[in-house]
Amino acid sequence: MNNNILLQIAEDYDSPVYVYNSEIISKQYKRLTNAFGKVKQVKINYAVKALSNISILKLMKTLGAGLDTVSIQEVKLGLAAGFTADKIIFTPNGVSLEEIEAVAKLGAKINIDNLSILEQFGTRHPKVPVCIRINPHVMAGGNTNISVGHIDSKFGISIHQIPHILRIVENTNMTINGIHMHTGSDILDIDVFLYASEILFDTAKNFKNLDFIDFGSGFKVPYKSGDIETNIEEFGEKLTSRFNTFCKNYGKELTLAFEPGKFLVSEAGQFLVKVNAVKQTTSTVFAQVDSGFNHLIRPMLYGSQHEIKNISNPNGRERFYSVVGYICETDTFANNRRINEINEGDILAFKNAGAYCYSMASNYNSRYRPAEVLWHNGEAHLIRKRETFDDIINNQVEIDFAKKKVKVS
Ligand SMILES: *Cc1c(COP(=O)(O)O)cnc(C)c1O
Repeated sequence: MNNNILLQIAEDYDSPVYVYNSEIISKQYKRLTNAFGKVKQVKINYAVKALSNISILKLMKTLGAGLDTVSIQEVKLGLAAGFTADKIIFTPNGVSLEEIEAVAKLGAKINIDNLSILEQFGTRHPKVPVCIRINPHVMAGGNTNISVGHIDSKFGISIHQIPHILRIVENTNMTINGIHMHTGSDILDIDVFLYASEILFDTAKNFKNLDFIDFGSGFKVPYKSGDIETNIEEFGEKLTSRFNTFCKNYGKELTLAFEPGKFLVSEAGQFLVKVNAVKQTTSTVFAQVDSGFNHLIRPMLYGSQHEIKNISNPNGRERFYSVVGYICETDTFANNRRINEINEGDILAFKNAGAYCYSMASNYNSRYRPAEVLWHNGEAHLIRKRETFDDIINNQVEIDFAKKKVKVS
């Protein structure tokens, strides 16, 4: 998508606005499936929480993906998008037994990551097969905010508790149809991931009725120049060989499953904002934009660096700017970044705005969440309207203090 298209979208749909390019999503999907082309059965379950717009889910369906979900609401979104329940896996953490039962009733695949819930679910529903999420205690990444496989993580059942899992399975007579891990958000080192996979294979040997092994996600995409990207092709080749050997020894062709979010949608998204004011202080030049962490919180939450381009003045002289929002909090998107000269009214494009951007947006400062646009086959399609004041006030319940005696405790 060139700058003119983006500027036209910002003009037609106003700012701030999220724009996604379907071609990049398709390309990433195909890269991943090609990398595992030598595995007989591969299933890519898109992690809905990364970007949960129903049109994005429908696009995933046309590509052949299934869905990975973490709440019953995401399961319902998937069903609304036309997925059949068997194409949806529910991989929650810390949700109630009731929610898991409700999802099982809808027919989605169940993934359990807690011994107590496993025992209760198996006792009550021995006929419903479940997948087990294990924690291999491997840190596949450098950032402790987003690595979830290590020893004190709340995710998964520890591999040191496998005897306990086996006891529950035997006592309840339940069926384990899958083994799963999700070690964290970054596969920086393929060998570390393969090491974790060996632990998964070792665990899988204990279960006789498996249909699939789910390797979670962790595919890294570059956010800023110099970032490492997971080498999917090399990774695919190495894991394929190990997986096929495992299946041979296991005596059954299993499905190899992944659940990427970021890899599929991050690079497809751009977030367009308008510069309200350029503010020169004694030390810094601030570009103040019509957004804040209410619309894009990753830089403040994780220290993520989203590249920012001035698409209104792409050939302007580069200068240093701190790009900040309009929220009454410190909401710094970028500190002293080299950007082509910024004038008030310019449109800035944040890169890698497909994953965990809109889906983490809020109404803080009583602002509307932005519109979302999908660029598909050379055309812009509005896939979510900008919110209106009704969205802000709708669920609020007013008390008429003049009429009612309100007890203040
Ligand atoms: C969030 C999540 C994913 C997706 O992670 P990405 O880093 O976006 O690929 C996959 N599996 C589970 C269980 C998750 O919670």
